[in-house]
Amino acid sequence: MPELPEVETVKNELLPHVIDRRIVGVTLVWEGIVKEPSVEEFRSRIIGQEITDITRRGKYLVISLSSEDFLVIHLKMSGSLIVSPDSLEPPRFVRAVIHLDNDTSVFFRDPRKFGVIRLVKDTSFIEDKLGPEPLEESFTPQVLAGRLANRTAPIKALLLDQKVIAGIGNMYADEALYAAGINPWKPGGSLTPQETEHLHHEIRRILWAAIENKGASVDTYFRPNGSEGSAHYEFKVAHGLGGKTCSVCGGPIERVVIRNRGTYYCPRCQPIK
Ligand SMILES: [Zn+2]
Repeated sequence: MPELPEVETVKNELLPHVIDRRIVGVTLVWEGIVKEPSVEEFRSRIIGQEITDITRRGKYLVISLSSEDFLVIHLKMSGSLIVSPDSLEPPRFVRAVIHLDNDTSVFFRDPRKFGVIRLVKDTSFIEDKLGPEPLEESFTPQVLAGRLANRTAPIKALLLDQKVIAGIGNMYADEALYAAGINPWKPGGSLTPQETEHLHHEIRRILWAAIENKGASVDTYFRPNGSEGSAHYEFKVAHGLGGKTCSVCGGPIERVVIRNRGTYYCPRCQPIK
């Protein structure tokens, strides 16, 4: 599932292909991908508009249009946005195509069909769903401590809660907790100041490294040029990709289920204290 580093990579790599381009057509192979407005209104409002910017907030991509509408895209479980010349065979599992004025198109590929497109005048609904951006300067250890204060849920579940911190999903939560030596079941509000500081440092380090590596292609994620990211080659535990034994202590990596999410950790390096 695309998380912050994957969506950031899509934003960075899509931008030069689409900036200042005019949308000349839309093909909805699966109309259910457009959540709002109606399909008819979506078509009529989007065609003819220029793309003026792309930003990211959490796992959302926000594409600004010259009409002052915003195209808000969530890739969800299995979505990718791929830029390709119209003359080439489209990728498999394409649900929507945005045709640009230079004979290229943006293909929304989504095998599992959870991805969502919205065309809106106002993006404040995103803010209502999200906590702070972990890579912003303003995200300090004190901010993280404040988000976790008095919370009794396991720290793993809190890291996945987009209202606590935006953009982290199952892969990077497991990696950050492993790197910080924190047991995933530990109640969020019980982290010591030292643990919170360590976790804050590892969250940022791991997310930045994953962006450097253009995201993790563990499942169906592709970069806009159709290639894979390489962040998963550095995984120590996430998705079981680090192997069956811990690279630090040699003990077994265990898989448990926390709030319905498979969680990998090392019981020796991440003990319940
Ligand atoms: Zn270990």
